Amino acid sequence: MIAGFCCDESKKDGWKWIWASDEIFTVRKLSLILDENSLAIGNNSTETIRNSLVPKKVEIFVWRTLKKRLPVRIERVDLHSVRCPLCDDEIESLDHTFIFCSHAIKVWDRVFNWWGLGNLSNLSFNEILRGNAGVPMSNFGRKVWQAVEWVSAYHIWINRNNMVFHGKSWNPPVALNVIQSKSFEWISRRSKGKNIDWLIWLSNPNSYFTL
Ligand SMILES: [Zn+2]
Repeated sequence: MIAGFCCDESKKDGWKWIWASDEIFTVRKLSLILDENSLAIGNNSTETIRNSLVPKKVEIFVWRTLKKRLPVRIERVDLHSVRCPLCDDEIESLDHTFIFCSHAIKVWDRVFNWWGLGNLSNLSFNEILRGNAGVPMSNFGRKVWQAVEWVSAYHIWINRNNMVFHGKSWNPPVALNVIQSKSFEWISRRSKGKNIDWLIWLSNPNSYFTL
């Protein structure tokens, strides 16, 4: 379409970038648009899954779970068993792996207890990924809690894979320690202007609800 087109500066011809209000192209703006579209959840929806407090690999992990693109056994046709490789009690679905499996419950119990939030009793995995704690929170607190939930789910998946593929045992207290330190490292580095104290993070992260 543009072959043969020639700008005529006397007529004020020029190029403009229609995806930004200032009509100026930058690589960063293009990158943001690509990110938003590549992490869209629904086929026709513009809803995207983003939380700037966690690394891209965690965002992509959450996007894959919401799109049901994580290789839990029920989604695979090439396995002789679709039972959960951890507890062997149920079919390994996403909900089972992340919510109902006794191994996952032991991790969530510790995470919810750490945040003083009771337990995850009535929450679905989707609600958890959307940062619903079941209690009112400030916007920043909600974003931090969502990041903690994503990091927790991410580590449940890593622990599951370490057990399945490397025979490593599952230790919920150690899993909590890893979740606490990783989430602190990622969140404190990414939340500009918020000075998060490590000891308060461990003992009373609720105090960040009101920041
Ligand atoms: Zn299980």
